[in-house]
Amino acid sequence: MRNFAYAKASNSTEAIRLLGHSGAAKFLGGGTNLVDLMRENIEQPESLVDITSLLREIQENADGGVTIGAAARNSAVAAHRTIRERFPVLSQAILFGGSGQVRNMATIGGNLMQRTRCDYFYDAASRCNKRTPGAGCDAIDGFNRMHAILGWSPDCIATHPSDMCVALAALDASVEVEGRDGKRSIRFTEFHRLPGNTPHVETDLRPGELITSVTIPKLDAARRSVYRKVRDRSSYAFALVSVAAVLEVENGVVKTARLALGGVAHKPWRAGPAEEALQGSPANEASFGRAADTALAGAKGFAHNEFKIELAKRLIASTLADLARKDGAR
Ligand SMILES: Cc1cc2nc3c(=O)[nH]c(=O)nc-3n(C[C@H](O)[C@H](O)[C@H](O)COP(=O)(O)OP(=O)(O)OC[C@H]3O[C@@H](n4cnc5c(N)ncnc54)[C@H](O)[C@@H]3O)c2cc1C
Ligand code: SF4
Repeated sequence: MRNFAYAKASNSTEAIRLLGHSGAAKFLGGGTNLVDLMRENIEQPESLVDITSLLREIQENADGGVTIGAAARNSAVAAHRTIRERFPVLSQAILFGGSGQVRNMATIGGNLMQRTRCDYFYDAASRCNKRTPGAGCDAIDGFNRMHAILGWSPDCIATHPSDMCVALAALDASVEVEGRDGKRSIRFTEFHRLPGNTPHVETDLRPGELITSVTIPKLDAARRSVYRKVRDRSSYAFALVSVAAVLEVENGVVKTARLALGGVAHKPWRAGPAEEALQGSPANEASFGRAADTALAGAKGFAHNEFKIELAKRLIASTLADLARKDGAR
């Protein structure tokens, strides 16, 4: 691990100034991902700008939505009463991530920006286009059980590891950012990128920009929402496949459906066509099965992860069926 400078910012303006835009400095949230990467020499920032004493507020908005400060701790967000009542899918997704200790340290902004858990990315002896653009990708012909089945490219088949981000994609959240050129808002589904031929460019965040908050708009249907995660161990493991779902049923017909998948792509995967297939359909197993097939249309696996396609379909169908049953509408 290289030596680095450390500074603690007391407000957003100071944080942005201290960061600069050369790429030599990085923001420090809980450090649960960044410090590991620095220990492995995968990331080597010259300085860290600690932002954990600002941007911690969780605020209910007059329009029924919620704004969460970027340095709010994952555990505080999961435990927040409004989040648990109005957006249970978000609270559940966070609680499926890491351990109590990790969630007590990890921040919302850091969770959005965490890097993939592809083993080849962490192994400096392997070829990795994300770590060294143009080097090649050892995962494609390697052990790729955890890797992508949707939206991958011949340059990178890594997945985004976050659980929380899958819920935020389903909830139509937005990411508020601030830089030297001012503030802007990015739709959550457009914040993370597919790999294409630039897998090292993972988000829409520009050099020098700070994530200040995440906003979730009002969605009454989200009171009936759930997060389901399938993993190799029952705790402390990243998703093989996960589903964030919102379902509102009226008179046996789907009125509102939101669906996003985790563990399947380089970004949280919003399943828009599946939502359209569900809208106005009878809330029954046939519709849920059709929606699952639609969500996975175009999926293609590799030597060790083909099983994820069927797994994701079954997870979607059973999650929707459980939600419909809870709604007492079947
Ligand atoms: C053992 C272990 C198991 C885990 N399991 C899971 C899991 O199952 N599911 C899951 O979702 N996560 C899991 N995590 C990941 C954990 O949730 C992330 O490490 C964490 O969310 C990162 O948050 P942080 O605040 O610690 O980020 P940091 O490590 O501090 O930062 C991560 C990145 O975000 C950048 N950053 C931080 N804040 C901002 C900001 N406001 N604006 C711009 N950039 C910013 C940093 O510069 C850095 O590049 C696990 C982590 C560990 C260590
Ligand atoms: S899948 Fe992506 S992160 Fe993993 S080795 Fe290939 S290029 Fe690197």
